[in-house]
Amino acid sequence: MNFLEEKIAKEGTVKEGNVLKVDNFLNHQMDIPLFNEMGKEWKRRFAGKPINKILTIEASGIGIACIAAQQFDVPVVFAKKAKSINIEGEVYVAEVESFTHKCKNQVIVAEKFLTPQDHVLIIDDFLANGYALQGLIQIVQSAGATVEGIGIAIEKGFQPGGRVIRNLGYQLESLAIVEAMDWKTGAITFREQG
Ligand code: 5GP
Repeated sequence: MNFLEEKIAKEGTVKEGNVLKVDNFLNHQMDIPLFNEMGKEWKRRFAGKPINKILTIEASGIGIACIAAQQFDVPVVFAKKAKSINIEGEVYVAEVESFTHKCKNQVIVAEKFLTPQDHVLIIDDFLANGYALQGLIQIVQSAGATVEGIGIAIEKGFQPGGRVIRNLGYQLESLAIVEAMDWKTGAITFREQG
């Protein structure tokens, strides 16, 4: 097991409805030394890519993205969740269905923060069905920028998002891939990664 899998095995809890709760270290209380290790690992896996910007989505991607950005020495842009009523011109918009809240949000990024010259690393905490990532990819494409790769902390490998995104041809690097989890026993198993 790698450092993140060990942490999940020790402190993660499985909830009914395919939800893995990791608020002890990832998306409520945040373990910064762990985030540092994650950033270093993404830096290693995306070595040689001309990344000049990190894009994430509020809220729980932001902390991870900011710590990772220190490894890449690039700025972070986060897509904001917006009520459509607030949206005024000069923004890229994508519609994202929330896995955890079961509702649709429009997410926006100001046009001035993504341009055709940008080479973007997308970072997020979880990958489940892939809706959040597809929204972020759509925003990068709207800007005419390039997706250089996608870094995910925890992929739930039994949900379709990972397969969909890899089939689109993107380099997707998930630091832990949960193969199966059982809320009745609390058991979590991980996919072997080479
Ligand atoms: P997707 O769009 O891939 O279906 O879901 C990704 C988003 O849903 C992530 O940004 C994350 O915030 C949330 N999410 C999905 N699955 C889980 C989960 O098992 N636990 C937690 N805490 N968040 C999740």
